[in-house]
Amino acid sequence: MHQFDAECAVCQEAQREGISHDEAMSRALIREAHMIEQTGWVAHVISDAPLAHTHGCNETYGHLDFEVRLPASPIMRYDLLRALVEAVKAGQTFHAGVESPTPFQCPVRFVERQEGDRTVLRAILPDANGRWPGETGCQRGFNEQLED
Ligand SMILES: [Zn+2]
Repeated sequence: MHQFDAECAVCQEAQREGISHDEAMSRALIREAHMIEQTGWVAHVISDAPLAHTHGCNETYGHLDFEVRLPASPIMRYDLLRALVEAVKAGQTFHAGVESPTPFQCPVRFVERQEGDRTVLRAILPDANGRWPGETGCQRGFNEQLED
């Protein structure tokens, strides 16, 4: 199980509509399923961790879903994921352990991670000075990208 940022929205909807939390949650899940059908994928930005990941890439594009772990704003994390999905839609394939030219200004490395019961590709970005996690002087935030 993973938590996702819809939780607050779900609580709000439950209150607003006068329905139970479970009912509001199942409505939210149905909306998500529709969204995946229409756009091919959705992103979950985790509110209490610097994480964000996609759903639907596997089903829609036959590509592993993506994850990022950066203490960036929710919109920034979403934009990173969107850029990766757009690249996949344009025909690019990413693999763990392979440094890839990407839609970003910098190279990106990928590692496979377990997210719930599925495998996702976590995109690892170098910091502003080109340092990777584990390298001396790697900026805080960037240095923790390989952590859970
Ligand atoms: Zn999720």
